Amino acid sequence: MVKETGYYDLLGVKPDATSEELKKAYRKLALKYHPDKNPNEGERFKAISQAYEVLSDREKRQIYDDGGEAAIKKGGADTGDFRSPMDFFEKFFGAGFGGGGRRRERRGKDVVHQMSVQLEELYNGATRKLALQKNVICDKCEGRGGKKGAIEKCMQCRGSGVETRVQQIGPGLVQHTEQVCRKCLGTGEMISEKDRCKQCNGRKTVRERKVLEVHIEKGMRDGQKIIFNGEGDHEPDSQPGDIIILLDEKEHSTFVHAGTDLMMKMPIQLVEALCGFERVIKTLDDRDLVIRSKPGDVVKHEMTKCVMEEGMPLYKNPLEKGRLIIQFEVIFPPTIPLTVIPTLEQCLPPRPEVTIPLDAETVELEEFDPKQRRQQQHQRMAYEEDDRGYEQGPRIEQCSSS
Ligand SMILES: [Zn+2]
Ligand SMILES: [Zn+2]
Repeated sequence: MVKETGYYDLLGVKPDATSEELKKAYRKLALKYHPDKNPNEGERFKAISQAYEVLSDREKRQIYDDGGEAAIKKGGADTGDFRSPMDFFEKFFGAGFGGGGRRRERRGKDVVHQMSVQLEELYNGATRKLALQKNVICDKCEGRGGKKGAIEKCMQCRGSGVETRVQQIGPGLVQHTEQVCRKCLGTGEMISEKDRCKQCNGRKTVRERKVLEVHIEKGMRDGQKIIFNGEGDHEPDSQPGDIIILLDEKEHSTFVHAGTDLMMKMPIQLVEALCGFERVIKTLDDRDLVIRSKPGDVVKHEMTKCVMEEGMPLYKNPLEKGRLIIQFEVIFPPTIPLTVIPTLEQCLPPRPEVTIPLDAETVELEEFDPKQRRQQQHQRMAYEEDDRGYEQGPRIEQCSSS
């Protein structure tokens, strides 16, 4: 049991989530609430990244599970200091993301797009077409925004792009706030109406629809990036950003994808578990695999077996494949007709002999309900207390020395 679930709730997962589930949840939310996409959700973005920073670290997660947020915050330098959410985000998604890196030259924003893929597509490979909108340099004015020589300094901000507003907030008390110049939208430049480019209306860029062919290669994973260099937003005087496609694997009805392995559960009847079974498995490339138990072998409940080379293809080496792991679930019949019991008994290994002491007490076996535990214990205790008065001497220990 965990002390509190706040961090898990932030990421929308259960407290027993695997590290893969956590990673996936963070990825989805971080993209959704990134300040580029959702400028008003800065606090939420920060909270999500802090939650994931803790839960993605095995030690910190343990501290959180045991002592909650207070224990993390108390931890000091090792556990209590969070990295900046932007740094954390960039580290998670890899360098080259976001377009705001300090070391890189000026360039347009990367456009990130999450693409849902089926397990079949990761297994077989696929090509998908994706249409997106991006900013490109206006070809009519070649990114100048108007006629040559028509560009003037913005009078409102004197070319700085920043406007200082003075606001009276009390008697004799004024507040200076800086904001992006509303007249030139931060460019520091103005072009008179008549000289303005008609195509981009002086903005220098236009929105363009772009259709990309995304090649999903065999063996790609959930969360893998496919990068289209220089296909992102393009602004004047800078390099265009990238288009980054993030693969988001959908759940499959039969298989669970775990690294290079595929896992599946296979329910079988008790008769099959004891007397042998045969099954046909439809593979992700639509072949039929037949599996059979060895004659005389018994399949136990939750036993796992595997088929080599029938898992996922290896990325960049698709002729090799991982394993197909099968976990059996034996379905027991709810009851057995009384008349068949003697026959059945003849086929099975003999029962152990049980010696019942003379003074043994026969008790009732009831359905077990974990939630009822406390109540039953309580009743039992009350009963024992009542009983105590009548008890004489030490209890007689039951022994079975036969
Ligand atoms: Zn133009
Ligand atoms: Zn201005």
